Amino acid sequence: MLPRLHEQFPLRGLNTFGVEARARWFCRVRSGDDLAALAADPRLAGLPRLVLGGGSNLLLTRDFDGLVIKVDVPGLREHGEAHDAWHVEVGAGENWHATVERLLAMGRPGLENLALIPGSCGAAPVQNIGAYGLELAQRFHALSAWDFVSQRLVHMTAAECAFAYRDSLFKRALAGRRLILSVTLALPKRWRPVEGYADVARELKERGVVRPDARAIFDAVVAIRRRKLPDPAVIGNAGSFFKNPVVSREEHQALVARYPSLVGYPQPGGSVKLAAGWLIEAVGLKGATRGRAGVYEKQALVLVNRGGATGAEVLAMAREVQEKVAEAFGIRLELEPVIV
Ligand SMILES: Cc1cc2nc3c(=O)[nH]c(=O)nc-3n(C[C@H](O)[C@H](O)[C@H](O)COP(=O)(O)OP(=O)(O)OC[C@H]3O[C@@H](n4cnc5c(N)ncnc54)[C@H](O)[C@@H]3O)c2cc1C
Repeated sequence: MLPRLHEQFPLRGLNTFGVEARARWFCRVRSGDDLAALAADPRLAGLPRLVLGGGSNLLLTRDFDGLVIKVDVPGLREHGEAHDAWHVEVGAGENWHATVERLLAMGRPGLENLALIPGSCGAAPVQNIGAYGLELAQRFHALSAWDFVSQRLVHMTAAECAFAYRDSLFKRALAGRRLILSVTLALPKRWRPVEGYADVARELKERGVVRPDARAIFDAVVAIRRRKLPDPAVIGNAGSFFKNPVVSREEHQALVARYPSLVGYPQPGGSVKLAAGWLIEAVGLKGATRGRAGVYEKQALVLVNRGGATGAEVLAMAREVQEKVAEAFGIRLELEPVIV
């Protein structure tokens, strides 16, 4: 049966920036069958599509003259195992943080470093979500998706998703072409803490935790994130708006000669990841306000809606950040959220 279609649907409550925009058509899907029914509706033929999860990694800059599909696929089930991992399949519409917590309670740890990332499980592979020393790719087994071109269900392995730093094929060749319906996670049978990250180590030390279990790491990550990141329910934002740029060892050395306090993290292969937040702070934009948009005062990587901002105002703020950083350091910051 065709999912219910709404016309001129308001999206303000469905994006964490809280910006106003309307969808010409809007519907919620719970299965591949719903998508097959949509494909057969002549009113929607040839229209642009936007797949929406929790709306926490996109910026709507105008009304969407097409079909917005909100993914509400439910479910969580144990789905086999490998010699070293439990496989758990989760519906794309399940909330990510609630899933991390639920798995922990089920005795299936392994995602605790990714606690409190907003959004849905289905969007997690899109940018290979990562935080505090862990990326989804390290806990991923496979996914199922609907392909809008062949109008069929497809299964994809990790290799087929081509995961990279905040990136996958869903942001490139497959952008807009596949809708992820479920994700099968691989949770380690022999759990070990992922502790390398300085903030987490410091938080655990302050809490007097010497040999942390998964719950201790979960609690530490939640506490750090609550302190550092703005809650979208209070101030509109999409988390980090810029990716941390990666430069060659030579470029890094040349920059350090000019800016001795530059923050950089050596990467495998000799390149260096720079802290984009440091670069933005260095050009004096931390805490800046332009109209109703701004740069968050506690974390310069985050752009915020100070109340009633349009997507275009937020985007103008982002462009100013990119221009000033490029002028000062010769580095082009890439945007992390999807601009619609
Ligand atoms: C306060 C805050 C903190 C954050 N911290 C982090 C962090 O630490 N690390 C991190 O990696 N991210 C972080 N984010 C970004 C965001 O939470 C993640 O990228 C999250 O995975 C987005 O999920 P979503 O369901 O909200 O996706 P949406 O914003 O709805 O969509 C994002 C993109 O994915 C596509 N998409 C969504 N669902 C599907 C689907 N089922 N199938 C195919 N495509 C789909 C959309 O079309 C869009 O292109 C943060 C955001 C906020 C607001």
